[in-house]
Amino acid sequence: MIHLRYRTVELKLNHTFRLSRGATDGRQNLIVEIEHEGIIGLGEAAPISHYDQDCASAADAVDAMVRRLDDPRCFDSAAQRVAVPGQPAAEAAVDMALRDLAGKRLGVPLYELMGLDPGVMPVTSFTIGLDRPEAVARKVREASAFPVLKVKMGSDDDRPILEAVRRATNRPIRVDANEGWSFDEALSRLEWLQEMGVELVEQPLPAGRLEESRELRHASPLPIIADESVHTAADIPRLAGAFDGINIKLMKCGGIGEALRMIAVARAHGMKVMLGCMIESSLAITAAAHLAPLCDYADLDGHLLIKEDPFVGATVDKGRLVLPKGPGLGVVSR
Ligand code: MG
Repeated sequence: MIHLRYRTVELKLNHTFRLSRGATDGRQNLIVEIEHEGIIGLGEAAPISHYDQDCASAADAVDAMVRRLDDPRCFDSAAQRVAVPGQPAAEAAVDMALRDLAGKRLGVPLYELMGLDPGVMPVTSFTIGLDRPEAVARKVREASAFPVLKVKMGSDDDRPILEAVRRATNRPIRVDANEGWSFDEALSRLEWLQEMGVELVEQPLPAGRLEESRELRHASPLPIIADESVHTAADIPRLAGAFDGINIKLMKCGGIGEALRMIAVARAHGMKVMLGCMIESSLAITAAAHLAPLCDYADLDGHLLIKEDPFVGATVDKGRLVLPKGPGLGVVSR
């Protein structure tokens, strides 16, 4: 007998977060509990409004999925088998809850169940949102514990913002344009970005512009990583040659199972792998962090940008992710 419970949580941000396509002060995520034989697996959905999802649609999808689950012990592709099309965040929540449940049932951390080494975690970048140059400098100082910064771009203020960050620190910077540039804008910025000590650029062009991305990649002195252009493993073969790597997010792909497939497909195409996130609590961030030993870059700072995290899970030590040692995801309520 499977029992399902869910609730929405309000995650409030420390700073208003600006992207090339809008601003936000917080978000609502869905927390999912799947109980089987007295053990509770935890999952979290961060529905992406940009792709027409919200907590209500995610809750409906989780309901429908859990009703179709037969044996929750067969976690490997269970969430994918019962997935509701267009609701990858709900799928990710069910997938992580089933994996949490499996680890707790066996009494081992999920990384042990997956055969992964928690000692080889990459550093995570810390995101500096779009802001006025003076505010950017303050945010950079607040992020002094992080060895790599990520700067959101794609506005008219790109140059003063990056210059403000560079004045405030000599740490490596990753730039995310969130589809905010035209081909000519991207081309004219790349060399300057390299001179500014930027180590890679995420999604410079709108997702559909594959031919232009291919051309840009050939001209680029910096690696270009696909984010909005890639959702699942099936997207990857056509991106090879147009991007140097992919950004995997559980909320885009539908969970750890699909993320593992994406890593395998990207590696087969000689591509780099970055692990990203939405604004998420420590619950979903810890699930994503379980894949970090397999990735080149981590950008798992969603839980560090919120005021009251409802969970305790993966932590960050000198910028490096540290997985909790408890069974399953190892995440507990605060
Ligand atoms: Mg991105």
